[in-house]
Amino acid sequence: MYCSCGRENILAKGCCAACYTLRRQDRERFGGLRESVLERDGYACRSCGASGRDKRSIIVHHRVPGKSLLHLMISLCPACHARLHRTKAVLSEMPPMLLKLWRERHPRGHEQMAFQFTSATPAAVPIPLFEA
Ligand SMILES: [Zn+2]
Ligand SMILES: [Zn+2]
Ligand SMILES: [Zn+2]
Repeated sequence: MYCSCGRENILAKGCCAACYTLRRQDRERFGGLRESVLERDGYACRSCGASGRDKRSIIVHHRVPGKSLLHLMISLCPACHARLHRTKAVLSEMPPMLLKLWRERHPRGHEQMAFQFTSATPAAVPIPLFEA
């Protein structure tokens, strides 16, 4: 018997240990929607367009921590994801999508130091990226 990923050793529920762990993490951390997010985003980073050579190299980011809703999760490559979570960043070098996400993530970040911020609205407005 083989797992659907091709590995031979089945651990539980028809899955190998690696797939079983992924599935459990998906349920616990992504409400079982990780694959749906990746599929919607074409298995590519929504910020820079880098595609995941294998599915696991793309990270699903929670726009609102702890909320595993499809429209509040987004696929990012590890590099963009790391930049997003950094508290200090050179914002002028960020792709527009990443900039939006960064502002959302760091509402009190020091973006005005590196970025001309002319909008009258607060930095942390929820941005409707996808249909709810
Ligand atoms: Zn497997
Ligand atoms: Zn990227
Ligand atoms: Zn994240």
